[in-house]
Amino acid sequence: MDTVLKTHNQHGFLRPVCGFSETVSILSSSKLQNPVLRLSSRKGHLRRAKNGCIRASSAALLELVPETKKENLEFELPLYDPSKGLVVDLAVVGGGPAGLAVAQQVSEAGLTVCSIDPSPKLIWPNNYGVWVDEFEAMDLLDCLDTTWSGAVVFINDRTKKDLGRPYGRVNRKQLKSKMLQKCISNGVKFHQAKVIKVIHEEAKSLLICNDGVTIQATVVLDATGFSRCLVQYDKPYNPGYQVAYGILAEVEEHPFDVDKMVFMDWRDSHLKGNMELKERNSRIPTFLYAMPFSSNRIFLEETSLVARPGLAMEDIQQRMVARLKHLGIKVKAIEEDERCVIPMGGPLPVLPQRVVGIGGTAGMVHPSTGYMVARTLAAAPIVANSIVSYLGSNGGVSGNELSANVWKDLWPIKRRRQREFFCFGMDILLKLDLLGTRRFFNAFFDLEPHYWHGFLSSRLFLSELVFFGLSLFSHASNTSRVEIMAKGTLPLVKMIGNLIQDREFDD
Ligand SMILES: Cc1cc2nc3c(=O)[nH]c(=O)nc-3n(C[C@H](O)[C@H](O)[C@H](O)COP(=O)(O)OP(=O)(O)OC[C@H]3O[C@@H](n4cnc5c(N)ncnc54)[C@H](O)[C@@H]3O)c2cc1C
Repeated sequence: MDTVLKTHNQHGFLRPVCGFSETVSILSSSKLQNPVLRLSSRKGHLRRAKNGCIRASSAALLELVPETKKENLEFELPLYDPSKGLVVDLAVVGGGPAGLAVAQQVSEAGLTVCSIDPSPKLIWPNNYGVWVDEFEAMDLLDCLDTTWSGAVVFINDRTKKDLGRPYGRVNRKQLKSKMLQKCISNGVKFHQAKVIKVIHEEAKSLLICNDGVTIQATVVLDATGFSRCLVQYDKPYNPGYQVAYGILAEVEEHPFDVDKMVFMDWRDSHLKGNMELKERNSRIPTFLYAMPFSSNRIFLEETSLVARPGLAMEDIQQRMVARLKHLGIKVKAIEEDERCVIPMGGPLPVLPQRVVGIGGTAGMVHPSTGYMVARTLAAAPIVANSIVSYLGSNGGVSGNELSANVWKDLWPIKRRRQREFFCFGMDILLKLDLLGTRRFFNAFFDLEPHYWHGFLSSRLFLSELVFFGLSLFSHASNTSRVEIMAKGTLPLVKMIGNLIQDREFDD
């Protein structure tokens, strides 16, 4: 029985609810299916608002969005045979980047692995961007389809920062193919279904799927992303939300340098003629993130960095239309679009618990940035080695004891402290309006690269993060310092309280 329900959330998306915990994020991505696009009259862009202003409408832009196409990889996947009643060493629930990375590495050590996903061959829908050094460190440069020698940040109309740090777009087809290929050659078996329930026995667990099949495994890994299907949380789930609307578009022209990606564009001159939008943007700002592939092909994403509750998608689309018009970007066709809702921060899952987790389900999104892919791929060997070591040479531990050890390796105290600091960062960002946000990033990108690189890539730990915080404070303008003190004191007290309370979970 499929217990997945669908309801609308405040972002106008479908919100699936799994058998165990409510899902909080949805993405939808439409891929080019029909080359004949429904082009609409450009007049549709403009709508007269009550106050007489010309209001940007997103309707015309959305009419260029092609119907959703689900593209599958051409692989023959070896299937799990339920009739054999085997107990696999590891069942990985969810075939996103997190799940496949662990499946690949555990199977490489000779353990039996079953990967369960409703669409195991589907090319991942998200457009992933990463810093090139992050992928280089994992020997994954062949999985970037485009790289830019650097990135730019527009703080406002007068201040632009050049970030000399190469950025890349993940070739999701290549990355998934590479992982699937390795899984297949390592003997991973695949089962196409949704897991709806888990039942634990002392030394094994039973996974009940929506097609009636039961899979038995010594260890269960929940890698279901933000669905958080099996992993349990015992504290109220109160994340901030990054909400973004992105299009991969063919345009007549755009004003950006094709050698640099636009990491953040906080300019708001496009909202001059629309007081209502300008006011909304001043309170909860959005920025443009752009990856220019050529002079007429570009990925454009209007993004709310973090807000609680998250911004409405329609609001973001309106801002994007106004921005593109102001920048003189005329969209001729849209190849695909992306509606992105990423929960950020919030509590960690119960530590430890029987089901182990990785990726979105295990609180691994960077609470101040929404990034996760590089961090998760780097953590996959830690989880994999831990499972292999505790199942094998470390004396064949199983059940709760094994899971506790794996959780401890994934979330050691130094990583939990680091996350607490990032949540503190998020709490400050949640309170900043447009001017405050600009001041914050103006000081942030003036820091030594070691600090801002390390902060964005989760490489700094508590002592360095404290130094990072002090440096940021000393680089900030006086107005910004007053603001950080006024808005950061409560979050700081909360962070210190949480740091004091947090103990190793085996204490
Ligand atoms: C639109 C979007 C864009 C993003 N862009 C970036 C980016 O540029 N850079 C970055 O670092 N991060 C980005 N993120 C954040 C994060 O990296 C991604 O969400 C990433 O996909 C999370 O990986 P995951 O493997 O944990 O989960 P997912 O990729 O969400 O994979 C989960 C898998 O589990 C399956 N599943 C769910 N429920 C069940 C079930 N009950 N049984 C079996 N299978 C199930 C799903 O079908 C899916 O295949 C983005 C997120 C979104 C939503």
